[in-house]
Amino acid sequence: MRASPADFLPRANHLFRFQPTPKFRNPLPHPARVAVLAQRFTGGNLRIFSASQFGFVSAFHPEILAGSLAALRQLSPEVLVTRAVVIFTDSCSSPITQNHRDWLWRRFAVPCFEQFLDTRGQVIAEECHVHSGLHVLLPKAVSGTLTSVECECGRSEPRLL
Ligand SMILES: [Zn+2]
Repeated sequence: MRASPADFLPRANHLFRFQPTPKFRNPLPHPARVAVLAQRFTGGNLRIFSASQFGFVSAFHPEILAGSLAALRQLSPEVLVTRAVVIFTDSCSSPITQNHRDWLWRRFAVPCFEQFLDTRGQVIAEECHVHSGLHVLLPKAVSGTLTSVECECGRSEPRLL
């Protein structure tokens, strides 16, 4: 469980109403067309689909599909994605398991990248193409087993295992 004491404080989302919308973090080394499911992000060539708009995702022809596991499971089988899937997790959801990854591979047949969000929807840890833990962008915001061994991708942030 990747929870920190701060997660157990009352959620005060109304305090963050005027926070800027987080920028989407593309896990790929090149720009891509991104469909985001039911989560607020900004970015070039990115469209957000609310739950009632999931039926329009297919026509958008996403290269990257980003959403929680629950949201991804709601998509119809006709939704295809060509490059990657980004899975949002947070302190209220479990980390992505190998079983989830197997399902994602069978369903989408593209690499998947976990991104761990804080209560404001900011990415605080993210998986890279090496898929060996999550690079922690805000060390104070996460708890769990961290390694400081440099990742094979060359980035040196501590990683959440
Ligand atoms: Zn890495």
